[in-house]
Amino acid sequence: MTLVRVAPAQERDVDLSRTYDAVVVGSGAAGGMAAHVLTSQGMHVLLLEAGKKVPVEQELRSMEWPYEHPRRGEMPPGYHAIRHNEYTIRQPPYAAKSAFKHVFSYVGGWGGSDYVKNILVDEKDHPYTGTRYAWVRARLLGGKTNIWGRLALRLSDYDFKGKTHDGYGEDWPLSYADVAPYYDKVDTYLGISGHNENLPHLPDSLFQRPNKLTAAEVMLRKSLAGMGRVLTPYRAGVTTDGVKNKYRSKCFGRGACGRRPGGCDIHAAFDSPTGLIYPAMDTGNLTLRTNSIAHEVLVDRNSGKARGISFVDSQNHRTYEAKAKVVILAASTLESARLLLLSKSRQYPNGIGNSSGHVGHNFCEHVMGPGVTGMVKDLVGRPPSLDDGKPGGFYVPRFRNLQDRQSGFVRGYGFEGGSGFSMFPDGAWDTPGFGGQFKKTVREHAGAFIGMGGFGEVLARYENYMDLDPETKDRWGIPVLRFHYQFGDNEKKMCEDMATTAKEMFEQAGIEIVGVDKEMLTEGWSIHELGTARMGTDPKTSVLNQFQQSHDVRNLFVVDGSSHVSASCQNPTWTIMALAWRSCEHLADEFKRGNL
Ligand SMILES: Cc1cc2nc3c(=O)[nH]c(=O)nc-3n(C[C@H](O)[C@H](O)[C@H](O)COP(=O)(O)OP(=O)(O)OC[C@H]3O[C@@H](n4cnc5c(N)ncnc54)[C@H](O)[C@@H]3O)c2cc1C
Ligand code: SF4
Repeated sequence: MTLVRVAPAQERDVDLSRTYDAVVVGSGAAGGMAAHVLTSQGMHVLLLEAGKKVPVEQELRSMEWPYEHPRRGEMPPGYHAIRHNEYTIRQPPYAAKSAFKHVFSYVGGWGGSDYVKNILVDEKDHPYTGTRYAWVRARLLGGKTNIWGRLALRLSDYDFKGKTHDGYGEDWPLSYADVAPYYDKVDTYLGISGHNENLPHLPDSLFQRPNKLTAAEVMLRKSLAGMGRVLTPYRAGVTTDGVKNKYRSKCFGRGACGRRPGGCDIHAAFDSPTGLIYPAMDTGNLTLRTNSIAHEVLVDRNSGKARGISFVDSQNHRTYEAKAKVVILAASTLESARLLLLSKSRQYPNGIGNSSGHVGHNFCEHVMGPGVTGMVKDLVGRPPSLDDGKPGGFYVPRFRNLQDRQSGFVRGYGFEGGSGFSMFPDGAWDTPGFGGQFKKTVREHAGAFIGMGGFGEVLARYENYMDLDPETKDRWGIPVLRFHYQFGDNEKKMCEDMATTAKEMFEQAGIEIVGVDKEMLTEGWSIHELGTARMGTDPKTSVLNQFQQSHDVRNLFVVDGSSHVSASCQNPTWTIMALAWRSCEHLADEFKRGNL
């Protein structure tokens, strides 16, 4: 097998005396997509990224075996990942009084923490305050896409027109028909693997070869069909057949992305640098500046338009200005809201783009925790097979509150799951015994386990919000976010139902129940933060229009998940990119017409 490795594109010199056509803040899924679309439309773009350019293949070391690592993949002494109980019994800032030198979010506690210690932010440098929240951040070129879980789902009009369906919240100012062509573009340009199911509430993508289901998953799929529910192979944002992109390889089914906290060193799994940014640099229209922490959108005193970005160099702590005709924020949902709130001026005393007072509000995400683990007795003692040699297991789409109306909660949830042999047999932790008999039992049962956990829609509510902490600052002296956010009754009732239906589905399939989780995980656990600068038609109750353009400042766009009106229960990244593509195409048209 030959892996083609191509060096990143040549970087252009940053010229801060120049006025760029556009400045993009953040290089993750949203910022990468903005850079791709705008440069392919001929615009000259400066991309500012707060983090470093990390040689990510060397960090991930995807094919390294645990025994090849001095600490079996764990971080060195002095490094600590926040545990679930720390999130629940303590308040942010979680690292403030920690005796550890470096503190990371809970993702750093997954097996293989050494591989993400230069990818996740050190909470000592990046505090936040307020209510409990498990905030996972990755500050480096490509942001969280370097380690994302790859589940790539579309939203439907059950989501975009949720209010019309059930009366709750607000409809989005667009419909599935508006976004579908852009989902198609994302599918084609980046590659997605999956299986057509023809479901109105989970539209199919333009799929490449799907991953094979394991024996236990096939059994569950058949049983669920009898209940009118669906189990489909993991819809992975991974190219299984290949895409036209010299920086990426097609998936070799090595499973490395699932065994550790994520990442694929051959870039079969989408990440923003190889999928979007390096090809954009190849156009000659993209200039990249890393280590550049944006802290204010600069405003022209006369016109009130955005004129650029003020940023701090993370290494020398000096402040610089980048000038541009259009400003595009894509720093991720919470960081973009922070930036809007930080950008106070005479014209915009509450923060730029915030005449509605809705910036930071209507925060929404996914609630997690309930799930089930089971065992398929017929599979005990089967010879080992490469069951996890693929980028994901399965997905069970939403089935609640579609045609039916549940009492107790609105909206729905889906399940992510997997089964079969993995590099480390997780069942060993709960297997009783010791010595030779213990090892034999672990080996015999290793491929028989199956499990799944729910992701439920958290309702967008005005009273769930973030603002700036008046006292606490980050390492660079920039005020941090303060959370005012907690789950409500709808989420609690939904989670009770999740645990019940998870168990019911396994029982119906004849899978022996090993454990049922009922507890909700801390707010933020899903890493699917959304909705702090929502779109809408009314400038009094929304921040952006349907093209993610500020109602107040026509040359300011916010193209990440902060624009989402509701969370749906589907993972957001594919939608973030489809919307960013659509908005940036519109932006480029308007720019050419001189309307910005
Ligand atoms: C472990 C894990 C698993 C996940 N699994 C899935 C999944 O299966 N499916 C799914 O859909 N999503 C998943 N996600 C979420 C997914 O990664 C995000 O939805 C996606 O990355 C969001 O893109 P973004 O561009 O908004 O933010 P990011 O990818 O976080 O990028 C934001 C970028 O902005 C930079 N930045 C921040 N502040 C500033 C500033 N002030 N100045 C300059 N730059 C700044 C950051 O350094 C970062 O590079 C997962 C995430 C993680 C961590
Ligand atoms: S299974 Fe595919 S996507 Fe995952 S690490 Fe291996 S090659 Fe990359």
